[in-house]
Amino acid sequence: TTFEDCRALMESSLIRQCTDANKFQKPSPIQAQSWPILMHHKRDVVGIAETGSGKTLAFGIPALSSMSKESKSGRRLPRMLVLSPTRELAMQVETVLQEYGKVVGLTSLVLYGGVPKYTQVAELKKKTVDCLVATPGRLKDLINEGSCDLSKVQHLVLDEADRMLDMGFEEDVKFIISQCMPKEDGRQTAMFSATWPAAIQDIAMNYMIDPIRIYV
Ligand code: AMP
Repeated sequence: TTFEDCRALMESSLIRQCTDANKFQKPSPIQAQSWPILMHHKRDVVGIAETGSGKTLAFGIPALSSMSKESKSGRRLPRMLVLSPTRELAMQVETVLQEYGKVVGLTSLVLYGGVPKYTQVAELKKKTVDCLVATPGRLKDLINEGSCDLSKVQHLVLDEADRMLDMGFEEDVKFIISQCMPKEDGRQTAMFSATWPAAIQDIAMNYMIDPIRIYV
């Protein structure tokens, strides 16, 4: 697969952002496998992959590409949510979504604990965020206090899902998923995990629709 092959599938300005200044030569294996599943077949995906595989763009570009075809102006609710186990990973993912989102006029916001809530709440109140990247604990708090409405989240990503469960976030993750657009209403869910234990299989079974599993 080449980036050229992907232009028909996804917004070409996003593909150009990958190749500009010779940044990337070709899609990484996880990108080459995920993009057609997410963009062409519109299916759910479970990627068994480590960090460093290029998974951020594997899930980022399809979601940004499909959101870029919808209205971007006026007050709106987030349509993409990425759940991350740690603040560092959340920040890293949000940096990428911001860089690529800018190309198609989409905005992002990162939410994590250990800092005061008020600036995060103020950003959410403006209703100008397209992509949210969050750690589970803080996001659950913001939902419970009525500061964050996930009902329009159509693109849900569970990043490093096994780590989130190992850290004790299983109930929070399930609660957060229940606040997103129901899978029956067209939510697309992508889950990435380095391992495939029973608890991860359980999430794939209950919160995804017949996901395609890919290994890299
Ligand atoms: P990630 O797994 O998303 O954290 O990405 C790991 C690293 O791979 C990041 O530094 C990316 O910039 C880089 N990367 C992403 N896609 C590609 C690609 N197609 N070719 C080479 N490097 C890439």
